[in-house]
Amino acid sequence: MAEKLTLDDQGKLVVPVDVALPYIEGDGTGVDIWPAAQHVFDTALAKHGQRVSWMEVLAGEKAYRETGEWLPEATIEAFREYRVGIKGPLTTPVGGGIRSLNVAIRQIMDLYVCLRPVRWFKGVPSPVRHPELVDMVIFRENTEDVYAGLEVAEGTPEVAKLREFLHDSFGWDIREDSGIGIKPISKTGSQRLIRAAINYALEHDRRSVTLVHKGNIQKFTEGAFRAWGYELVKEEFADRAVSWDDCGGNPGDRLLVKDAIADNALQQVLTRADEFDVIATMNLNGDYLSDALAAQVGGIGIAPGGNINYVTGHGVFEATHGTAPKYAGQDKVNPGSVILSGVMMFEYLGLQDVADDITRALEETISAKIVTYDFARLMEGATEVSCSEFGHAIAERI
Ligand code: NAD
Repeated sequence: MAEKLTLDDQGKLVVPVDVALPYIEGDGTGVDIWPAAQHVFDTALAKHGQRVSWMEVLAGEKAYRETGEWLPEATIEAFREYRVGIKGPLTTPVGGGIRSLNVAIRQIMDLYVCLRPVRWFKGVPSPVRHPELVDMVIFRENTEDVYAGLEVAEGTPEVAKLREFLHDSFGWDIREDSGIGIKPISKTGSQRLIRAAINYALEHDRRSVTLVHKGNIQKFTEGAFRAWGYELVKEEFADRAVSWDDCGGNPGDRLLVKDAIADNALQQVLTRADEFDVIATMNLNGDYLSDALAAQVGGIGIAPGGNINYVTGHGVFEATHGTAPKYAGQDKVNPGSVILSGVMMFEYLGLQDVADDITRALEETISAKIVTYDFARLMEGATEVSCSEFGHAIAERI
């Protein structure tokens, strides 16, 4: 009988041998990549005497077809109740007041960390000479910044009212034909994100955490993020972590916390990749940085992600690419992103052996040049296989 995940009195997840977890198959190529990934997961779980009873929940086009809603309440309830789950890509409905189903899930469940590990897998075609130097874990704040959806459109009564208020109360004059967006960055939101990044770095024996910000220009939002981060290091982690300024760049046996201006960071992750390890940053910077880094290791098609609330334990792991509708149902695309999101989920659940076996089997498959079309066209001497065959090739190596 499948059981739910629970939290023990220290707030750690307890995983039963047969655990019930919800999944969203995903729109478009979801029908291809989910079954391929599930086969890999089930093979690795069985090897270690573990079982997941996968429960399908609906979102996106499939949900709309069957229930008339894009994101049924029952789906959110299932993720709340079962705590951890996984999803394929979802179509963003055009019009109808929904910005993005992914953003909605993150905000409704307050999944404040977007976790994006970026590393290179041997054999993956990359545009840089030393992709192996990239081994970074990005903690992107997931609930604030310009993603809060606080925007008014040019030419509306709302923007006129806001302009008037800003003029009267602050003496700020904004050009008449402007749209206006608001960028909230809170101390609470910043510190819980940075706390999660520091805890992760300590638990995983990482060397440093870099706070990436544009604080030289946006002093009271991005600059404050940096200041709150350093304040947190002093107040909560003084025995285990130290800021660059307090140790002259020599942290001894403590974790080094440093910072970099966003534009500089985007250059340096390319030119001095080995100086970056864990990165903590706000929503928009994190969005740019995670995709730029994924491209650097050739991994944009296989980049995994997780959305986590470390306080409640809730987590939704997901493929980071979209639904690629032109390939839907063709058993063609790369299931690597969902598979590696599963690896992240198993690590998060403490099933490290399961995660390690899948990673090793994926590495061996790519090293053997058995790959889907997207990698095959960039590699010499590759054997191009279908999505399901790629899943089988990985499962055989587990
Ligand atoms: P997309 O990622 O779906 O496709 C862009 C291109 O990336 C594809 O043409 C294909 O060449 C490649 N690609 C995507 N997935 C791949 C895979 N698994 N293997 C190999 N190659 C792959 O982006 P898009 O066309 O901009 O968006 C299509 C839809 O997906 C839109 O509705 C968009 O809103 C949505 N979307 C969803 C997510 C998500 O759910 N996380 C993310 C981005 C976009």
